[in-house]
Amino acid sequence: MSVNTLKIDGQDIAVEEGATILQAAREAKIPIPTLCYLEGVSPAAACRMCLVEVKGSPKLLPACHTAALEGMEVSTNTPKLQSFRRMNMELLFAEGNHVCAVCVANGNCELQDLAIRVGMDHSRFAYRFPDRKVDMSHPQFGIDHNRCILCTRCVRVCDEIEGAHVWDVAQRGEHCFIVSGMNQPWGKVDACTSCGKCVDACPTGAIFRKGSTIGEKERDREKLSFLVTAREKQQWTR
Ligand code: SF4
Ligand code: SF4
Repeated sequence: MSVNTLKIDGQDIAVEEGATILQAAREAKIPIPTLCYLEGVSPAAACRMCLVEVKGSPKLLPACHTAALEGMEVSTNTPKLQSFRRMNMELLFAEGNHVCAVCVANGNCELQDLAIRVGMDHSRFAYRFPDRKVDMSHPQFGIDHNRCILCTRCVRVCDEIEGAHVWDVAQRGEHCFIVSGMNQPWGKVDACTSCGKCVDACPTGAIFRKGSTIGEKERDREKLSFLVTAREKQQWTR
């Protein structure tokens, strides 16, 4: 096993070759904000919240998708990054319809928590108020596209852990949306096993259990973290 040594926020860190900057930072207890990252499934670098500065690189780089290399000097919390993260968060809120006061995830939402953490108390961008659908066709769950931030956690967890591949991303740019099956109502997609992994993975109130009302969405994160790491820890066979 070969090891790379690097500096993160001035701290010397040694990590196994192949680890990402995010993994190296987490090992050293250096917090880097994330939204789309979910341990145990492939990284998507979709939310851009984990961007960091690397000495010598003209671009900000996603910590979840950038290898921690020998001799790297990484900064995770500069004024430039703080300002970028706040702006990114404002754009996420302006782009969808995030009305926390009437959301099932109010008080239990990673988007809300991160907005508070980066100091976002209003958006400087005009709210777009897009006209988006709510699909309640599944017998147990619902999806409210108004609250979707396109993190693709549901896509990856359903494909890589459950093996059902119910979800995908349709269209491009501002017209992107999460689609079930061949753009069918969720309840008509035979591949869905109703396992609920996408509900536990979703960071917002976009996917929820039917019957939950404002602030009632609960996620069983322990179940999810067991599921995503069980294979590599060989917990199925113990
Ligand atoms: S309930 Fe399970 S199988 Fe159905 S969409 Fe969600 S993760 Fe996929
Ligand atoms: S439905 Fe939830 S998990 Fe899926 S992309 Fe949207 S916010 Fe992410």
